[in-house]
Amino acid sequence: MAKILPKNEVAKLLDELIKDYTVIAPTREKDFILLKEISSSSEVDLSLYNVRINSKIPPKEIILPQTEVLYSYVNTESGIQLMTPPVDDRNKIIFGIRACDVKSFLLMDKFFSGREFDDKYFTQKRKNMILIGMACNDPLSTCFCSSVGGHPHAKDGLDIQLVDIDDKYLVEAVSDKGTKLLGKVSWLKDAGSGDLDKAKELAKKAEDAMKKLPIDKITITTDDLFNDPVWVQFVDKCVGCSVCTFVCPTCHCFDVVDEPTANGGKRIRIWDSCQLPLFTLHGSGHNPRPAGKERMRQRIMHKFNYYPHTLNEIGCVGCGRCVISCPVNQDIREALKKLMEVGGEKA
Ligand code: SF4
Ligand code: SF4
Repeated sequence: MAKILPKNEVAKLLDELIKDYTVIAPTREKDFILLKEISSSSEVDLSLYNVRINSKIPPKEIILPQTEVLYSYVNTESGIQLMTPPVDDRNKIIFGIRACDVKSFLLMDKFFSGREFDDKYFTQKRKNMILIGMACNDPLSTCFCSSVGGHPHAKDGLDIQLVDIDDKYLVEAVSDKGTKLLGKVSWLKDAGSGDLDKAKELAKKAEDAMKKLPIDKITITTDDLFNDPVWVQFVDKCVGCSVCTFVCPTCHCFDVVDEPTANGGKRIRIWDSCQLPLFTLHGSGHNPRPAGKERMRQRIMHKFNYYPHTLNEIGCVGCGRCVISCPVNQDIREALKKLMEVGGEKA
């Protein structure tokens, strides 16, 4: 099912969706795009979306909040009473999500559910979610999704995809949920074959605009590179700020801490980062990753070696956020190229 949404009717569509769903959509925060819950279409700003391409903070925050109360507790006369927070299983729509970020959701689904454990805090939020994607027509020079198995117009994991074709969007349902939702919007006109051809043309143009790195070679060679001195080269500039992991849509490491009060407290999970020295510090004082070299190796190995081994996927979706946000211009693609060179020399 493919329809046409004129750009001047986006607000009408969003206001209709808000009546039945919690809608999360691109808004503008100073010079950045922020995906956040909206109560009116007037809060949505798509003007930067085609220029800046993506939100500064990835939408992982919607399913894995930066801080989240797991439970709270109080001491009562009859003992400790535990209280769990209300379940957030509202019907949510994420409007305008990019293909790379949808891929990060699919990766995190594999990690947080379907293995040994089912993380209900994650899965409850993820359960009733409709993803309305916005294809990227003009990827930034920092984007490399097509090198890691993605595509700027990928539809995997989406329910509905929007493609910007001049003064309108091609709106295509790509799942049963998407077809059902689109079926309810009776005023959308059917797309013509010219619209579908135009979208295909834009998909090809976007793909051609991106340089491809032979990343699959890296997933093979990193095993042999664990003890190679090459890792030192990637930490010359690094100041260990961790921004690269906090803005990464696939980084999901967290810490669990207790916040005590006078007669109880809260147990909270917070984002953590392998780039921080305390991340692996043992109670004994020993730290198996004592310096930047080991921490940078962990970041890259996790994405390009451990992930492929355990989940059969590369743990990077090529969004380029780490490249854009690093204060010292560390570029993961340069590190990957160097690893390929060194791995090649070793082979
Ligand atoms: S963002 Fe850059 S400086 Fe900060 S930890 Fe990552 S690589 Fe190092
Ligand atoms: S490592 Fe960098 S490019 Fe890859 S998914 Fe994370 S932020 Fe995006």
